[in-house]
Amino acid sequence: MAEHQLNPFIGLKNRLAAKAAIACTAVAAMILAQPLSEDLSRESTVQEAQIANGIEAAFGQARIVRCVSSEQLARRSNPLVAARADHVGGVAWPGLPFIWLNQKECDAISLFIAYPPQKSYEIRSGQARALFNAVHEYRHTVGTLQEDRANCEALQTMGELGETLGAPAELKKDITQFAALGFEALVNKYEKTGQSEIIAPYKLDNCLAGSSYDLGILPAANFPWPLR
Ligand SMILES: [Zn+2]
Repeated sequence: MAEHQLNPFIGLKNRLAAKAAIACTAVAAMILAQPLSEDLSRESTVQEAQIANGIEAAFGQARIVRCVSSEQLARRSNPLVAARADHVGGVAWPGLPFIWLNQKECDAISLFIAYPPQKSYEIRSGQARALFNAVHEYRHTVGTLQEDRANCEALQTMGELGETLGAPAELKKDITQFAALGFEALVNKYEKTGQSEIIAPYKLDNCLAGSSYDLGILPAANFPWPLR
């Protein structure tokens, strides 16, 4: 699950009133309470630098990555969502070059880097999800606001990160499909447990070839959604 900042000047009452609509956005007060410098002022760990280097190599933009615990991530997220979501994968704010990832995602990416899949049957769904989450956050850092658009853009581009981190080019589509399948399962899970409103902003209904979410990178026949 990922977050981004809405208007930082919106009043508390308005924020609470609008909580259903901004279910997956960070709240300005969180930023004020948690200065960005808190964990950005330290050196990157080897793991964080490795992931940041991969993102830069795949997409050409330098980013600072921080791998933090679920608790730390929740403190940077919308508390209304963090309290209810089973798992928050990362946080980023549009236009800022910082990506916070759940330590679990970082560890999954590190495993991918150490043992990149060479065959389709070697792809691990948790690792595909971690790449998906990292690229989702990356899309926020390049300015994407909406969660469903960030998801759609991540599906179109995450194969590049997979290849950069060691998978063969012919696996890019399969890695992406694993992530898309995993996301679809997550949607089903939230909807079956009566928590549709948490996952609704992320759903891929508008992720279609030729739509405004189409980055124009992939031919329509290879567009990652809907699954086929
Ligand atoms: Zn997001």
